[in-house]
Amino acid sequence: MSTPDTSADSTSTPRLRASLETFPPYVPGKAPKEIDGLTPFKLSSNENYLEPLPAVVAAMVADAKNPALYPDDAALALRTELADRLGVSLDELIVTTGASELLVALTQITSDASTEAIYPWPSFEMYPQTTGLAGSKRVEVPVRDDGRHDLDAMAAAITDKTSLIILCSPNNPTGPALRDEEVRRFLDHVPATVLVALDEAYWEFATADGVVDGVALVADYPNVVLVRTFSKAHALAGLRVGYALAHASVIQGLFKAVIPFGVTDVSQTAALESLRHSDEVGIRAKEIAAVRDDFAEALRNQGWDVPEAQGNFVWLPLGPLSSAFEDACVEQAVAVRNLGDGVRISIGEKEGLDRVLTVASAFYAEHFG
Ligand SMILES: *Cc1c(COP(=O)(O)O)cnc(C)c1O
Repeated sequence: MSTPDTSADSTSTPRLRASLETFPPYVPGKAPKEIDGLTPFKLSSNENYLEPLPAVVAAMVADAKNPALYPDDAALALRTELADRLGVSLDELIVTTGASELLVALTQITSDASTEAIYPWPSFEMYPQTTGLAGSKRVEVPVRDDGRHDLDAMAAAITDKTSLIILCSPNNPTGPALRDEEVRRFLDHVPATVLVALDEAYWEFATADGVVDGVALVADYPNVVLVRTFSKAHALAGLRVGYALAHASVIQGLFKAVIPFGVTDVSQTAALESLRHSDEVGIRAKEIAAVRDDFAEALRNQGWDVPEAQGNFVWLPLGPLSSAFEDACVEQAVAVRNLGDGVRISIGEKEGLDRVLTVASAFYAEHFG
């Protein structure tokens, strides 16, 4: 029997997976800088600036469970309500700790060092993280100049190693929503063995005609998995609840890949109550969408080239000027999200958005006027 080599010097560190070197860590949105006399606004994480519905908070408090016990691992009450509302069966649904856990689990069940994952870019920062961690080859397909997915290029990027394709509608951070017709045309070119995840984290805010309907797609395409969350329109980001709808075989795979007991009882209760108030949630999402449209229009009137905005955020494709724009907002006690290719501004209170408009106007005059 050979003895393990323990001679490594004290500067050695544990051997971690090489794939960790291939992608950047997730960087959360910053908090606003405190500046005397200015109310700070955090417009950097696409959080809902409205509080959860009072009935949801009341249900959480009333239904607080003994924390010595594990939660319902199957999230049966929440899944049953989702199944009823979406018109699907229970075995087509899984509830997870945010959509984030789903993105990890979806990669785990499809990807490894021998496979390839295709997704648009710029898009959600977790896509490089989860697919990179699995060791799969990352095929980032640039979005078009108008911020929309280049579905033709994505279809052309498919090889016999492709195991996962991610679509994001509305796309975080660029804003446009996919249309039903273009997604169906795309799916007709995707082999049935390739899993296509449609990330609809912001679907409730979309108001354009003909926007893709993930629920209908899943019914028509057994290789589509719909990813949704309670974090954005439901204003429950702090509770970590997301769900997926897919063919039962995919859901079975996901159940093997997620953390047992991930979603606490309190989170399940809140999500269930919020779901029961979906009408109100929808109305509030449309109010936020109206503020978004006004904000985007005001920017366009200043001269900015703002892509179609269908989420609760607006994108300024600033390229190398992104940091300068972010810094100008910081000095006004507003945190926005600098993603390198541009700056994403989450819809929030009017005062914060007005301050961004003032910054944007001066910035435009200085750099493009
Ligand atoms: C916010 C977001 C998610 C994940 O949200 P969770 O809080 O983990 O549910 C997923 N996809 C996109 C595109 C997002 O912006």
